[in-house]
Amino acid sequence: LFITFEGGEGAGKTTVLKIVKEKLEEEGYEVVSTREPGGSVIAEKVREVILDPEHTEMDARTEALLYAAARRQHLVETVIPQLELGNIVLCDRFIDSSLVYQGVGRQIGVDEVLQLNLFATEGMMPHMTLYFDVTPEVGLARINKHSGREFNRLDQESMAFHEQVRKAYLALQKKEPKRIHTIDASEEIEEVVQKTLQEIEHFLEK
Ligand code: C5P
Ligand code: MG
Repeated sequence: LFITFEGGEGAGKTTVLKIVKEKLEEEGYEVVSTREPGGSVIAEKVREVILDPEHTEMDARTEALLYAAARRQHLVETVIPQLELGNIVLCDRFIDSSLVYQGVGRQIGVDEVLQLNLFATEGMMPHMTLYFDVTPEVGLARINKHSGREFNRLDQESMAFHEQVRKAYLALQKKEPKRIHTIDASEEIEEVVQKTLQEIEHFLEK
């Protein structure tokens, strides 16, 4: 079972993923957590290139290609082998991040970015996607408080950029309500964890 966690900056994806992994393991499931861009040695190197705050001259299509390249390597090297072992794979960001950030945020267009990514993944999609919804105001405020987080190139983007990202996620969810489930991520972490577990357990029971 391949489950992806999506959302804007400061939505709490990484924190919730970590706790949810532990809880599912307590229930006896074999769970692997991973992240994008990254999740394999090569893909983590690509991540460094993409997110380097000094790379301000990076072209939008170059960025999209690098994300797709990192995704391909991560999928082949990490995600698919783990799924073949029968494990649950929880992934912090995946294809929807590209549709939203590169397709809408960088204005390449969702369909073009989708085509590029379908090449990278050979059409493979997550079985289930959890979208952690939070306003950019709340999300960015959380990031500022959370000092352990690494600074990245996206931290230079405007509030309007982050608003667009949120709108794009909500639009994607409307288009694919079976795959994408929205979770209100403005609530306390314990509450968000509970809701996330409920969604996953519901899916596992099906
Ligand atoms: O998940 P995390 O917040 O660590 O992601 C790192 C950064 O990469 C974020 O600022 C995110 O907005 C950005 N990103 C992006 N396009 C993607 C995936 C991530 O701009 N496809
Ligand atoms: Mg995170």
